[in-house]
Amino acid sequence: MGRLFAIEIIYRGIYQKTLAKNISRAIVLAAHQEGKPGISFGRYGDSPERNGIPAKNFAIVATDDVTLEEGMAKYEPKEVDITIAVDDTLCKGVESWAWYGLQPVNRLLKPGGTLIVTSKEEPPALIAMSHRKEAPYQLGIIKGTPSFSGLWVYKDDHTDVRILGAIAKILPELFSLKSAQAAIMNEWNDNLKATSAARAYERYSSVTVQPSQGNPEVPYKFDLPKWHEMGEGIAIPSIPAGKGIQDPATHAEGGYRPDRNPTFKKFTTRTMRPVVNFDTCIKCTLCWLQCPDSCFDVTPEGLYDANMQACCGCGVCEAVCPVKECVTMVNETEFKDNSSQWEAWRQDKKGYETWLQDKIKGREERSHGFRYKGQYEEQVPEMLEIAREG
Ligand code: SF4
Ligand code: SF4
Repeated sequence: MGRLFAIEIIYRGIYQKTLAKNISRAIVLAAHQEGKPGISFGRYGDSPERNGIPAKNFAIVATDDVTLEEGMAKYEPKEVDITIAVDDTLCKGVESWAWYGLQPVNRLLKPGGTLIVTSKEEPPALIAMSHRKEAPYQLGIIKGTPSFSGLWVYKDDHTDVRILGAIAKILPELFSLKSAQAAIMNEWNDNLKATSAARAYERYSSVTVQPSQGNPEVPYKFDLPKWHEMGEGIAIPSIPAGKGIQDPATHAEGGYRPDRNPTFKKFTTRTMRPVVNFDTCIKCTLCWLQCPDSCFDVTPEGLYDANMQACCGCGVCEAVCPVKECVTMVNETEFKDNSSQWEAWRQDKKGYETWLQDKIKGREERSHGFRYKGQYEEQVPEMLEIAREG
């Protein structure tokens, strides 16, 4: 029996689809350079994928054909040597298409395996976001702004080959840097990309994450029904009607909170969240009307509070709000929980104002990719500079 290598790439649907495909394909091509057979594929359950929703690609490589066939007999690997999260906000959890609940980003990692994250953050911030794991694992960061683009336009900022270089360092039994560079030249014929892979290889470092570190929340669990417990056909119960909100000041009921799916929390789709200034809101209702996910609770005083478990971070509320900086989209890495902004505002209005100003000032550009003509031309040189200088 030979050795099987499994690597998963967790990415944001559509915006990072080409990036994930490039990485998983290049892994297999680099291993081919050393005569190892392999295959790269997307997870069937993620297709058709949606904008921003977490999705997965896998690269499976073996030292021989029989071992590969055995590995491929599984629908998807139960454990992996390396997990790659190409957006740091995925560390908060991965929930795809509502079919298995929120899963920790590091769930499939083998004991001692490596989680690679593309991020501008330092390890403590990413460790705090990621769920705890029963065995230690390694965390390595590929420094830079997470790369977002689209299906038809690819932002070639070298994220793909920098990750390939890091893999050669982490798992030299899978492929060497030389093989990675040979695959890069075959695939892209680009010396600069081959150099970026070598720089990532040289600079790569990791920290050990202990079982006592990380988000202590217990991830969502469920039991699959047995075949004999399944009913005929499928009935999906509708979401019940909502009800009033209890006013924290008077304890009277007012406003309206729509009921929500108790299982499907769409927040892992989010890379930005709206921060609402309740003091400048003119109660025009536009955010509430336009939110595609019915995220807004109507408060007893007629304000609108975006529910952070349900919000997928699309930015529509910011776009429609007629008041300057009344709704501001802020990088999701800035937040530690999903608590209600309205409740925080009700409890301490001055404190909330300070918190809000801190969140919205000098916020880093964070978007789902293409926002204006020439944007990639501005972003790519900055990323190539990071690839060069670290
Ligand atoms: S960003 Fe705004 S409009 Fe979009 S889902 Fe969240 S609350 Fe709704
Ligand atoms: S769109 Fe802006 S001003 Fe209008 S209700 Fe929403 S937050 Fe208030």
